[in-house]
Amino acid sequence: MALTSPLQIYDTLARGVIPFRPPAGKKVTMYTCGPTVYAPAHIGNLRTFVVSDWWRRTLEWSGYQVESAMNVTDVDDKTIKGSREAGLPLAGFTNQYEKTFFADLESLNVERSDIVPHATEYIKNMIEMIKVLLAKDFAYQADDGIYFRIAKVKGYGALAQLKNQPSDDKETPSDFALWKFWDEADGEVSWEAPFGDSLANKAGKGRPGWHIECSAMIRAVLGDTIDLHLGGTDLIFPHHTNEIAQSEAVTGQPLARHWLHIAFVNMAGGKMAKSEGNTITLADIINHGFSPLAYRYWLLSAHYRTLMNFSWDALESSAIALKKLQNRIADLTTVQHSVLDKVGTPIIEYLNKFTEAINNDLNLPVALSIVWELLDDHNFAPENTLVTILEFDKILGLDLISATQPLAIPSEVAQLLADRESARGAGDFARADSLRQQITTAGYTVDDTSDGPKLRKI
Ligand SMILES: [Zn+2]
Repeated sequence: MALTSPLQIYDTLARGVIPFRPPAGKKVTMYTCGPTVYAPAHIGNLRTFVVSDWWRRTLEWSGYQVESAMNVTDVDDKTIKGSREAGLPLAGFTNQYEKTFFADLESLNVERSDIVPHATEYIKNMIEMIKVLLAKDFAYQADDGIYFRIAKVKGYGALAQLKNQPSDDKETPSDFALWKFWDEADGEVSWEAPFGDSLANKAGKGRPGWHIECSAMIRAVLGDTIDLHLGGTDLIFPHHTNEIAQSEAVTGQPLARHWLHIAFVNMAGGKMAKSEGNTITLADIINHGFSPLAYRYWLLSAHYRTLMNFSWDALESSAIALKKLQNRIADLTTVQHSVLDKVGTPIIEYLNKFTEAINNDLNLPVALSIVWELLDDHNFAPENTLVTILEFDKILGLDLISATQPLAIPSEVAQLLADRESARGAGDFARADSLRQQITTAGYTVDDTSDGPKLRKI
């Protein structure tokens, strides 16, 4: 799709909206910090991955060839603790949550990243990076592991705009673990590594710290410098700050050209967090009778850098709006098939407006309002409106194409509808109403239009 204006993104490091200009032209690498698989993801976590999906779709829409990666953190303090409490081996414990996580993404219509590295598969790469950091004196050995020496990094904490940068070369309490020597709490979880103190009987056994995992996986799967690094706002410090410190100390190159962060979802009155005991999962949303795409639609209602307050009422409004949108698409399809049956041409005026909105740091609330504006604009042939909206949906990802498929009506419902038509024809409105009620119970509504009765799925 031709660009009407250059793509602009809010870069956390630059603290402003700046043009997105990858040096390799049309090739882009992007990395999203993925889930720690120790519990079902809550819908606030899932927002990060839906927004990441919107960015990937936007880059592709803009003509870029995207190589995307999202890791799975399958070893860290939380996964080890969880697996021991559950009495399961680490892999068996994390696998179940990983499966749920990817099933959630699929039902939210989030496309899988091209590369999904697992931390436990890149331990060698982590060890290699730690060896370089030790050799360059960016790391040192302490009693319980290998630590990163943040005092040695000029400008440490720039991403988070930390004020209290270490001012001397003493090891500070903020130094973080690159490698943790095995202790009893780790149980069966450990890898061989050429670190440690043989006198303390800790040689050769340990596990990585969380931050080094991402640094090593990014380098292994996408290279020393990537174009776009994404994650939730909670990762700016310490996680991303420490990724930068480690990676750049090893390679001497910037880790990422652009840093992009996604805001939280709050519950009314406070943060949504497992520790607060107020999390909502996608399974909860489905159990309340909502489709996962209603949640995706709800996420479209705010800019990705805006904190959102979740409520069931707000989700219900989104579910109703999505249904209305699907019905409008189905209506356009009916008109197109029955009257015109023509292949449409995208409407340039609206494509340009939509592109302006997404190129402005992915302003999806405006982009969504343009969809509704077009639906209410009757200056265009329905097949053109339809094809334009389906083009928009390449970014929105609401699976609107499904609304263009003919409704598969069960034969008993078709019979009820035929009987109702007969009853109406015979003036037996009591019976017609009763049949309408039966159709509703079967999960369909009837609209009486000038073209005859029309069924919709409830
Ligand atoms: Zn990460």
